[in-house]
Amino acid sequence: MKFSICCVLLFACFGCQGPSSSLEEWMRPGDKPKILSTTGIIDDLVGQIGGEKIDHLSLIEANMDPHSYELVKGDDEKFLRAQLVFYNGLGLEHGASLAYHLKKHPNKVALGEAIQAHNQEAIILEKKEVDPHIWLDVALWQCGVEPIVEALSLLDPLNRSYYEEQGKKVKANLQALDEAIIMKMKSIPAEKRYLVTSHDAFNYFTRRYLGQGEASWKERFCAPEGLAPEGQLSCQDIQTVIDYVEMHHVSVIFPEANIGKDSLKKIAAVCKEKRCAVKIASPALYSDTLGAKSYQEMMEHNANTLWAAWMH
Ligand SMILES: [Zn+2]
Repeated sequence: MKFSICCVLLFACFGCQGPSSSLEEWMRPGDKPKILSTTGIIDDLVGQIGGEKIDHLSLIEANMDPHSYELVKGDDEKFLRAQLVFYNGLGLEHGASLAYHLKKHPNKVALGEAIQAHNQEAIILEKKEVDPHIWLDVALWQCGVEPIVEALSLLDPLNRSYYEEQGKKVKANLQALDEAIIMKMKSIPAEKRYLVTSHDAFNYFTRRYLGQGEASWKERFCAPEGLAPEGQLSCQDIQTVIDYVEMHHVSVIFPEANIGKDSLKKIAAVCKEKRCAVKIASPALYSDTLGAKSYQEMMEHNANTLWAAWMH
């Protein structure tokens, strides 16, 4: 019972982000700087800092996978219109047409790489490849505030003090969100905190929130698909997860909103045959996309979903 109470009170409202501009509004000529971000997650942070002073838009909509996103009709006009483009970098946006437009845009900031420049030791390598999913560690994502404040101020120097002020508020909110998730995940017994999802997106989340302070936090997370979810799964990939489920007595596995459930269904079916039944959790976690949520809501949703599945 005490955990139910804890669940309800954990997340305070930290204030709201202005919604992204509608496409029509964003494409219309106007006085405000036109800012384009590749993902909804980046656009959320840019929107909170730029507030009413900018027109901001996310290129990749809803639950579309940013790893393999290719430009669709009208996207090239967005690049032409954008005075400043934010993207994650660190290998996230590797669809050829998107990578090409990012490369040739004259004014862009790779937010992940700006964060990496000051936090090299915090960047996770997975089989020697950089893991781009830095936004799932709120404390690390907070380091993206400064580069956004700086880039907006360079583009629009008259509003520098506004962007700096907003940046301070956003940092304080993110810090409170980070602390709230730490508290919530700490309330789950350590023997339950073994996370299985669809693809390797949750390394940063696991290090920060599920195995805090543990040298062996990597043992707390396993996924059949690699850093980008578009690869073909081998029998070995599936078997590795089944072995993990058995070893750590995992009873629930978590789908992700932007990825099909086929691999998890396969794992659940084999586990059932072996009489080590696992459930597929519902709702799905958000890894690479926001759906219709804000970043804060997405992170709260993930923490609440894990808590509810592991504590019941
Ligand atoms: Zn991903």
